[in-house]
Amino acid sequence: MKRSIIIAILVLSFITSCGVPLPLQKDLIVKDIKAVRQFATTNPVFDSYIKEFEQQGKVITGNSDFSTGDVPVNFGDTENDAFQGVCFQYPDGTKEVIIRKSWWDGANQDYRESLLFHELGHCSLDREHTDEVLVTSKERTYKASLMSSVIVGPNDYKDLRDEYLKELFLQKRDDLLTSLGLNFD
Ligand SMILES: [Zn+2]
Repeated sequence: MKRSIIIAILVLSFITSCGVPLPLQKDLIVKDIKAVRQFATTNPVFDSYIKEFEQQGKVITGNSDFSTGDVPVNFGDTENDAFQGVCFQYPDGTKEVIIRKSWWDGANQDYRESLLFHELGHCSLDREHTDEVLVTSKERTYKASLMSSVIVGPNDYKDLRDEYLKELFLQKRDDLLTSLGLNFD
């Protein structure tokens, strides 16, 4: 028997956000009709992260053909002070991820991956935000997904990386619940 799990709606706060706490502002941004994609290729700085995203995608989905797709990643203007990264979608169907360089330069590898995989969640996996949180018996609160509008911090990401990646690619949180002691099956 599955008991109910305490899931509360995250009260959004300004910390490091990829999205912002205003309901109509998101880091998944559909550009207006005249806009065209800024970059055709990815800055090599991001190559290892994208390779890892594809490798994880292949293993977790079981689809050996899994690919990030045509989503160049580059440093640039996120067009909103609250966004460290954005996924822009253009009227011609193209997409790209733009990362704020000053944030990237000050972030460790776990934090960088948390942000970039979130943006690829929008641009490559077509995922929207989910702001549910999980509360453990010790009253610790964890974001239920890398697709939280306030991105998962580096320590939680490092501790629960496999669990968050399974949720990202398969939208299955059973491993995350188990690791947090919240799976009562
Ligand atoms: Zn987002």
